[in-house]
Amino acid sequence: MTVDWKSQIKRLVDRGAEYADVRYYPKQEEDFMFMWNGNFLAFNRSEESGFGVRVLVDGAWGFAASSDMTSPGETFDRAFANAAAAAARIKRPVRLADKEVLSGRFESPCGEDPFEVPLADKVAMLRDIDSFIRQPGVIQRRVKLSTVRKTIEYYDSEGAEIEKHIVDIFPSMQVAAFDDTGMMQSRKYLPPRLAPTRGWETMDLEHWRLQADRIVSEMRQLVEAPKCPEGRMSVILMPDMMYLQVHETIGHALELDRILGYELSFAGGSFVRLNDFGTLRYGSPKLNARADATLINSPGSFGFDDEGVAAQNRMLIDKGILVGAITSRQMVVEANERGGREIFEGSGGACRACAFYRTPIERMTNINIDPGQDGSLEDIIRQTERGVVLSGEKSWSIGSNREQFHFSTDIGWLVEDGERRGIVKDCAYSGMTLDFYRSLTAVGDETTWKVQYVDNCGKGAPGQIMQLGHGVPVCRFDNVKVGE
Ligand SMILES: [Zn+2]
Repeated sequence: MTVDWKSQIKRLVDRGAEYADVRYYPKQEEDFMFMWNGNFLAFNRSEESGFGVRVLVDGAWGFAASSDMTSPGETFDRAFANAAAAAARIKRPVRLADKEVLSGRFESPCGEDPFEVPLADKVAMLRDIDSFIRQPGVIQRRVKLSTVRKTIEYYDSEGAEIEKHIVDIFPSMQVAAFDDTGMMQSRKYLPPRLAPTRGWETMDLEHWRLQADRIVSEMRQLVEAPKCPEGRMSVILMPDMMYLQVHETIGHALELDRILGYELSFAGGSFVRLNDFGTLRYGSPKLNARADATLINSPGSFGFDDEGVAAQNRMLIDKGILVGAITSRQMVVEANERGGREIFEGSGGACRACAFYRTPIERMTNINIDPGQDGSLEDIIRQTERGVVLSGEKSWSIGSNREQFHFSTDIGWLVEDGERRGIVKDCAYSGMTLDFYRSLTAVGDETTWKVQYVDNCGKGAPGQIMQLGHGVPVCRFDNVKVGE
């Protein structure tokens, strides 16, 4: 049945609501296929449908959601009653930053919709990829494919009317074997976004075959390799490691709700203070970071966020200086009030929910590092006295305020006097976030720049899992602590 969402919103405004919005998901679908050593370990499909209503009454939020479409007015009334009950208890009335009221439609670029591909073809694709990595020396093979498809209709009391249709695909493969000490050594491949689209057509079998041969060869060398040396040296992060470094120590650190303390009970806080914006030297002058929700082929692009704010491309760190954050309408008003100055101008359009029954919160879009002037990976290696090239995240541990970190990686290549000296295993590095970015001394050009996806970013209470991307180049950091 069709619901007249706009008249339901008007009804709440007539009752005294300052603001109301509704997100209606006619359908949100997710498929997850996980093949382990040639057998399916998981083969899941989920479908959800429903709507969520947010309403502001006397400065307090109320929220309610339902998948029952027969009496939607009851859910709108419940959201209103929740807000009215909360209004008696709040200390700081919520106000929303002004926005441009937009109507529009967004469709993620997709050649062939993966949900229209016959199941037998998907199974065959996974079997093919599995056959590429089924090679001597490999004792564990993992092939994963998850796909997402959702349509979201959005209406609010300011007049926005938006429809989004988003399709995305997240494939990966991994191989592992034991080394002579009995430790597992592995290599994996999560393909960077090479195509301009986000559909089934991006699954190029020949590409997977080449990458499979590469990761198997690297894994075989890893099980024979010496341990990574310890000490202070340069680290050169490949995009498939740099993306996680950026995710954890720039992305999460710059979510404005974390900076204001709203995530302390769950994901944690941030070392960044409101008076840091505009002055804090976050990194060396080579560091340019941005939140770019306009990068077309990445899961962090969605046209309009879940407050109806259009996708934006905003600087977060400009030549090393902190200038921006990942923001929503509510948090920028509160931050400007608490900071006593106009720190943020309007919402950055980064407020998203993972489902109709969750409220939108600050989420990363595509948190990217601009390519630099230091040439290719080989150029950077040539200018490195002593260091290690690191690829593939293996484990991570990050301070709850993101002020320090420790990562280990699948593989490393030692560099001495400008030359690669061979593969090393059990690589780890750690540091203080600001010291680390201030020691950024080389940023690769656009030939090294890759868009890596993240399909499992967790945040919020109750928890929300979100998808996004990071476009990052090869980067070198000097004088980094390498080793356990
Ligand atoms: Zn995350």
